[in-house]
Amino acid sequence: MSKVIQSIRGMHDILPDQSPVWNYLEGTLRELFIQYGYKELRTPVLESTKLFSRSIGEVTDIVEKEMYTFEDRNGDSLSMRPECTASCVRAGIQNGLLYNQQQRIWYIGPMFRHERPQKGRYRQFYQAGIETFGIPGPDIDAEVIAVSARLWKRLGLKNVELQLNSLGSNEARNKYREVLVSYLKDHEDKLDEESKRRLLTNPLRVLDSKNPDIADIIKAAPQLLDHLDAESEEHFERLKLLLTEMGIPFVINTRLVRGLDYYCRTVFEWVTTELGTQGTICAGGRYDGLVEQLGGKATPGLGFAMGLERIVLLLEEQAIETPTQSPDIYMVMQGEAAENTGLKLTETLRDELPGLRIVNNAAGGSFKSQMKRADKSGAKFAIILGDNELTENNVILKPLRNAEPQIQVAQEALKDHLQTTIFTGQT
Ligand code: ATP
Ligand code: MG
Repeated sequence: MSKVIQSIRGMHDILPDQSPVWNYLEGTLRELFIQYGYKELRTPVLESTKLFSRSIGEVTDIVEKEMYTFEDRNGDSLSMRPECTASCVRAGIQNGLLYNQQQRIWYIGPMFRHERPQKGRYRQFYQAGIETFGIPGPDIDAEVIAVSARLWKRLGLKNVELQLNSLGSNEARNKYREVLVSYLKDHEDKLDEESKRRLLTNPLRVLDSKNPDIADIIKAAPQLLDHLDAESEEHFERLKLLLTEMGIPFVINTRLVRGLDYYCRTVFEWVTTELGTQGTICAGGRYDGLVEQLGGKATPGLGFAMGLERIVLLLEEQAIETPTQSPDIYMVMQGEAAENTGLKLTETLRDELPGLRIVNNAAGGSFKSQMKRADKSGAKFAIILGDNELTENNVILKPLRNAEPQIQVAQEALKDHLQTTIFTGQT
């Protein structure tokens, strides 16, 4: 016999038992984004490879070693999207959504990176995020951060810290890069191989190193915040003031540079210590040069992306209760005549009470086995229809989650009874 086919390493099924928390998270996100006036943009999973090499940057981890890139049957180089900002910018330029206007956009969907799978790090993972276009000032930076802050509040997540930094303008960053390179060259003998390589290709990323052996060198390095241009400094001061006004605490992390090339000015991350080394649950920043870099007219942009698996892990870690999808009622029907009446009755109830969740027993079975299924379904009540009930035009309503007695309810009165029982929680 051939071996059973497995899913690809680092790519997981979200099983029926796990999906209620995902549905809840996604529903909460959708409502939140809409509440702030954002509209969804859905882009394809596959894009031209050059979209990512041009935007994320040739010498980033993502483009160098994490992308799923292949030639399609026409010989075109395609990549599975590793993130969605580049796709949003591409779609925005292509559809004339960016020039001379303001946009507030959100997205959700799977992203793909060939990384070493571990807790909180996968090869297919979900991101949700927002992108804003055409708004240059720190007011929108504050809004974007407020959206993320409100998500944690709404979900009841605790112990997530907002870390904030400013990368300054591109010119200021280039000047700082020189200062940093000359400092790092003085300490080159103590750097690890990865950092030596980054020193040549993307020196700011050395600051991103998690290697404890070089932590001291990084700590003593000249700081970007001391090399900001005046405008970026003003932008950053105003952002900090607005965050303070809105009651959103933050800490400044001068070593926060983000992995992608395209950021300028504001960068931020939401970090928790409760998920080991995969502690960043949301990351974002400003990318004023990106639209032009991808062939559009110069348009300021800003956004964030959050890793949904990590948020689900954190919800579990903090034992936060999320709504179940258990049915209200499991319909137990004994015999064909009871099925005839029962299926009709439940369709009528679904018409009358669209919020009611009813699962019908299927494929018959003894009373005992039907009651077992009823219990396993997680339903609050069983409605039982047998010969007696058919003759008397009533049903038995049996609570399944407490010791209260079962009662008889006339079929005619069932809707009103359920309305008070289920929707106001009384029996
Ligand atoms: P990390 O430093 O953890 O690799 P990153 O800087 O590569 O993150 P971004 O590209 O900024 O991550 O993506 C935004 C968010 O998406 C991350 O903060 C994280 O929550 C999530 N994320 C990124 N890569 C993965 C992955 N491989 N698996 C699960 N979630 C991920
Ligand atoms: Mg990464």
